[in-house]
Amino acid sequence: MKEKTLRQAQGEKPDHRKLGEQLDLFSFHDVSPGAVFWHPKGMVIYKELEKLIREENEKMGYGEVSTPILVKKELWEKSGHWEKFKDNMFQFQIGNEAQGLKPMNCPEAHLIFASRIRSYQDLPLRLAEPTGRLHRKEVSGSVGGLFRLYQFTQDDAHIYCSPEQIEKEISSLLKLALKIHKMFGFKSFFRLATKPDEALGSPRLWEKAEEALKTALKKSKVKYELREKDGTFYGPKIDVNVTDSLEREWTIATVQIDFQVPERFALEYVDKDGSRKRPVVIHRAMLGSFERFIGILLEHLNGALPLWLSPEQIWIIPIASRNNKYAEKVAAECNEAGFRYIVKDENETVAKKIREGEVQKIPYLLVVGDKEEKAKKVSVRQRGKGNLGQMKFDKFLQKVKREYDERG
Ligand SMILES: [Zn+2]
Repeated sequence: MKEKTLRQAQGEKPDHRKLGEQLDLFSFHDVSPGAVFWHPKGMVIYKELEKLIREENEKMGYGEVSTPILVKKELWEKSGHWEKFKDNMFQFQIGNEAQGLKPMNCPEAHLIFASRIRSYQDLPLRLAEPTGRLHRKEVSGSVGGLFRLYQFTQDDAHIYCSPEQIEKEISSLLKLALKIHKMFGFKSFFRLATKPDEALGSPRLWEKAEEALKTALKKSKVKYELREKDGTFYGPKIDVNVTDSLEREWTIATVQIDFQVPERFALEYVDKDGSRKRPVVIHRAMLGSFERFIGILLEHLNGALPLWLSPEQIWIIPIASRNNKYAEKVAAECNEAGFRYIVKDENETVAKKIREGEVQKIPYLLVVGDKEEKAKKVSVRQRGKGNLGQMKFDKFLQKVKREYDERG
């Protein structure tokens, strides 16, 4: 915190591009504009977030799918993207066939839904695609850093349900959004956008869906702002916004109801009475894109990621080379406990290694010398808290395990 206040007082705002370089997380190269080269440490962050989303998806009963990146024009025509979004798509002519890189996963998820006869008992059917690589052609010159990319990945999912099931699904999505915001110390707020004048779909369905969204918001006990007539023409939506430590507002998650796409794709299920009905589609992303979310997070926390997300969680610093063996023993136990660690045994002063650990935002630095070795202890420096003094090594492990479990 102190460091952040100081930097802000000096007028220096955290910049994720600089942090990415300082912490060796990612780089950008002219040969591939608008795309990220993830380094090993950056991939740790990426994979931990992916793991978080996968775990939450599993708890909520999502099935994971994976769909192709290169798809024929006919699908984009069917989904309406070709008409509305063509200029933002990367297109190819392959033989006689026009194809495009997917700018979103939705149409392909719908093909999976429609690939078999669905019954009311299958609903809600929840399909998640957290690894779908998307490409969107942004206006040339506007790409830069992790915020505007040609290539990115969303923690995307689609829920196919009946109108009666909307409220329950939305409630669990709001709960997850709140959990994630709390995890990172974001302030959350919600916006409900309702039926615009040019809306498509039955007015009764709109009414029912808007009522379900309002009830879900009320039951979640969150404050929300009502944006009358601000919904998209195909359904009402909730924008899940956060304010970061720099008082900036971001829309990171969206929950969008869609009445239109089930018509376009003729999606249907067989109801209890044997009649065929259209499901409602809910599009959702909780982090938005992984890339942009990591950029926001780095600036929000000024690079000091929580323990569970830190690429290197513990550095073990032997005071003299005769302590290297003990350092290795400590390292083996960190390894056993599942933590990411480094033994800093290169020929540098302890002070220099500590300074470097601070610059690298390492959550814990363990200094081990003769005294620590004899007493099976470690001298602990915690990021943001400074020197905690000597601690029995097993006590230290208990402490970091507790902190790790706080991820929730
Ligand atoms: Zn979608």
